[in-house]
Parts: sequence; C-alpha cells; structure tokens
Amino acid sequence: PEESLVDMLDASARANRASVALEFFGETTTYAEMAEQIARAANGLRKLGVSHGDRVAIVLPNCPQHIVAFYAVLRLGAIVVEHNPLYTPSELRHQFEDHGATVAIVWDKVHDTVVDFPADMGVEHVIAVNVTRAMPLLKRIALRLPIGKAREARSALTAQPRAKNALRWEDLLEARRLKKSHPRPAAGDTAVLQYTSGTTGTPKGAILSHRNLRANALQGQAWVPGLRPGHEVFYAVLPMFHAYGLTLCLTFAMSMGARLVLFPKFDEGLVLDAARTSPPTFLPAVPPIYERLAKAAEKRKVSLGSIRFAISGAMNLPLSTVESWERSTGGQLVEGYGMTESSPVAAGNPFSPARRAGTVGVPFPSTEIRVVDPENPHIDRGVGEEGELLLRGPQVFSGYWNRPEETLAVLLPAPDGGAPWLRTGDIVTVSADGFITIVDRMKELIITGGFNVAPSEVEEALLSHESIADAAVVGLPAPGGGEVVTAAVVLASGATLDVAALREHCRGRLSAYKVPRQIVAVDELPRSLIGKVLRRQVREQLSAS
Ligand code: ATP
Ligand code: MG
Repeated sequence: PEESLVDMLDASARANRASVALEFFGETTTYAEMAEQIARAANGLRKLGVSHGDRVAIVLPNCPQHIVAFYAVLRLGAIVVEHNPLYTPSELRHQFEDHGATVAIVWDKVHDTVVDFPADMGVEHVIAVNVTRAMPLLKRIALRLPIGKAREARSALTAQPRAKNALRWEDLLEARRLKKSHPRPAAGDTAVLQYTSGTTGTPKGAILSHRNLRANALQGQAWVPGLRPGHEVFYAVLPMFHAYGLTLCLTFAMSMGARLVLFPKFDEGLVLDAARTSPPTFLPAVPPIYERLAKAAEKRKVSLGSIRFAISGAMNLPLSTVESWERSTGGQLVEGYGMTESSPVAAGNPFSPARRAGTVGVPFPSTEIRVVDPENPHIDRGVGEEGELLLRGPQVFSGYWNRPEETLAVLLPAPDGGAPWLRTGDIVTVSADGFITIVDRMKELIITGGFNVAPSEVEEALLSHESIADAAVVGLPAPGGGEVVTAAVVLASGATLDVAALREHCRGRLSAYKVPRQIVAVDELPRSLIGKVLRRQVREQLSAS
C-alpha cells in the first residue's frame, strides 16, 4: 500500500538509527531514541482515548517534544492541529472551537488558558510540556509581537473554569507498550489541519492528508540536488506551526535522516553559536531572516559557507537580500513559492546557474499550473500575460475544515474531470520557459484611476533607496472613488523622511501612476510571526490616522 508520513519516518529512522535526529540547545536525540519516545507517546495518547480521526492540538514552539508529539498523533491515525503558541487566549479559543480537539499538548505558558476553556468545548486532557530553555526567548518575542499584543483578561474568557485531566508530558511517556496493536493511518487519511497565516482574513484550517505532506517532502527531495541522506544539517528557525516550517523543516528533514537543529525563535546570536558546533547545510527561511543573519555573520566574522541550500519563500524576496546573502556566504539563495493549501511548496528555482532571481522558479515535479483571467477562471491567459495562478498536484489539499463555501470558492472543478484546480489568489506571469513571477495578491492590488498597482513593486522601488529600511504599500480610499497609492515606511537609522526625494526616486523606476502619493514614516510595520507584512493592518492604521 501507499506509504503514510509515519511509514516514511519509520523507514528513515531504521536507516539512521544511531544518527542524531534532533538537536536543541546542544542536547541531542538519535533517531532510535526519538522512535522510542514516539512509540511511548502514542501509547500514552491511546490510553487517553485518542483514536483515528480525532483532533489533537499541539501548541508548542520548536522543541524536541513538538516532533515527538507530531508523529505520535499521526501514528494513531489522529489529526495534528498546529497552533501559534503566542496566540492570545481568545485567538486560541477560536481555533479550538473550530477544530474541536479533545486532547491538547501545550507548553506550560498556555496550559492554564486551555484548562480554563469551558467544558462544552470538549477538551478533555491537557498535557503540559516544560520548555524551560525556550521560555526566556519566547517571552521576549511575545512582548515585541505586533499581533495579539492586547492580552485579554482571563476572567472575560470563561465564567467558571472547569477541572480537566491535566498531566505532564513525562507522564505520557511512561506508557509502556500496549498489547493490542492498532491500525496504521492510510495515505488518504487527514494528517494535519494547518491554519493559513491569516494575512487576508481569519486563518482557515487547511485539511492536509498524509499523501499531500509526503508528496511535498518527496518533491522537495527531487528539487534539491545532491542531498546526502543521513548527513544533512537542517536549521529550523521557522516555526513548525506554520506550513513552511512544517514541511521544509520537520517532515523534509525527518524523511532524509537529517540532523534537525531546533530554534524556538529566530535569533542570529543563537544561530551563529550553533553553527560553530553543528555547521548548517540546509536553511529554509524568509527574507528578513537572511538579511539579519548575513549582517550578523559579517559582523561576528562567522562563516556560513557550510550552507549549501538556502531557500526563501512566503513573501517577495528582494534582490538586495539575495546579493547581501550571496556576498556574505558564497552560497546560492533561491526563491520558492507556495501556500498552506499546497502543503505548501508548489514551485522553486533550480539550485544551479539556471536559477532566475526575481522569479519563484518552475513548478515542482508532478505539479501542473495554469494562468487564468481572475474574473473568469475558465479563460486561460497567454505566455507573459498577467493572470491568477491555478495549481494542481499531489500536494494540493482537499478543502478547509468546516468551511464548505470557502472550499468551493478555491477549488475549481476541472473540465477534464480530473482533480480540481486550486485558485491561489495570486497574480503571476509565466515566461515561455516556465518561470513564474509573482506580481502580487489579487486582494491587495491597488486600483487607481483604472490601473492596477502591485504593492510589492512599489515597495521594492522604495526599498532600493538608502533611507528606507522597510516599506508597505496599500491603497487608501480616494475622495472621488478608486484608491490612492500610500506608503508606510520605516526609515534606516539616522535617515530623515524626504518625501519629494523618495517620489523622485520612484519616478525613475515606476510609471507615474504607481508612484506613492502619500508617504508616511512609522516606527515599525505589523508583521506576522513568520515575517509577512500585514498590509491589511497597515491600511487600517493609516486610515485611522
Ligand atoms: P491567508 O490565506 O489566511 O490570508 P496567507 O495566504 O498569507 O494567509 P499562507 O498560506 O502562509 O497564508 O501564504 C501563502 C501566500 O504567500 C501565497 O498565496 C502568496 O501570496 C504568498 N507567497 C508565498 N511565497 C511567495 C513568494 N516567494 N513571493 C511572494 N509571495 C509569496
Ligand atoms: Mg492564503
């Protein structure tokens, strides 16, 4: 039968028993030790009544227990639901109400929040994981986090806290082997409910099967040439509760018998320290991380030349970031593209001189694409013409949890009767030789005087000016209808805002209608935990001021 994600892990654990699977602040766990912990955790969960199709919530930063919990849940045919551990109590509660998990595996800090959920929400067991090493670091980001800054009073959440079965992670691992075996998950079973980032609205739970996630790990292996199974060192600086970290760190590294070095948050000092003893070879990250890491490595004179594969995704990769990274490390930084709904990777640049900076590369193996009229997705666009990107492949999801209407809206039935096409909501162009360029999100295009303006193009023009450290461009309602191109910028240290000079700079790079009419300096841009600029919030802030 077709392999599940668990089968994939088992094969890799058998082939690499004595190799280090996980490293966390210098402490290591071998594949054999990890497999033993997974078996025990699965038995413990089974004793709590977890079985096929049940949802088990994981609310953890990157840490070894996160990976053990992930595979233990899958082993039972149950469904992992990943959560941002820094979500506020009300954000967590909304997600729990949506997925209806009966068991939650959480870090100590949110333990009380989950135990206090009203009894009718159905959470029966809360398992606390002590992530001592991560605590001080996470407290620091919690303070700086733009989203969820406001901490709701706990009393507002629930009138009467209910007692639940609360236990510790260590208790769960005490479970000895059970006599009766249980059925293993099938490839078509749901493995993970993965929430989208919530950039354009409320996060939606994407239903990802074992087949989807395994396919994406295999496609990844085919993408990256010369990977040495059992010898790569992956750095997980991206959170594994997001689709990008989930596949490119967790399942990909584990499927290859790699050593996975876990960071509860990105911190350039931590990464450079770890690089001395476990030089990284594979680093998936986002542009702001590459910027900061390249600078820090240069300053501290630490070489990151061991990194053979540096991958950027989730947002537009500025050329200036590619240049500074490649100058500082001597390695290639290539861009890929994906979305939660496609497990997530759908396209990537080749790791060779053929890579084309400014594009997100070519479709992954066995991934088909189309470019269509966003108003009528049955009409295809020609080579080089802008249109909405559609995707089809083994990594494409089957729908959103509890959201039949949203599912119908994004899964377009195929005229050929085959699998449906996923509407990405992204406007792209595709060259004659198949390289995809992301123009911008459909929902964030600015309409001004009948023209469409892609905010990312304007942001890139602003960022190329030395006084600008960060930029977000949005459309604000114009008095006579349409929108006004407006920029919120963060100034480089020591720089002052010179609107006339910036507009002049943009005029040299953009058509007149794209040049921002208004430019406002702000201290900081709201970013999601993975680092995406939340233009929706920028628009709200600018309209309010
Ligand atoms: P939501 O769907 O909840 O609004 P989201 O779309 O940001 O949030 P994700 O699934 O994390 O949630 O992100 C997928 C989106 O990220 C893509 O649709 C695309 O807009 C953007 N994206 C991914 N890779 C790139 C890239 N290389 N360049 C530009 N944009 C990218
Ligand atoms: Mg999306």
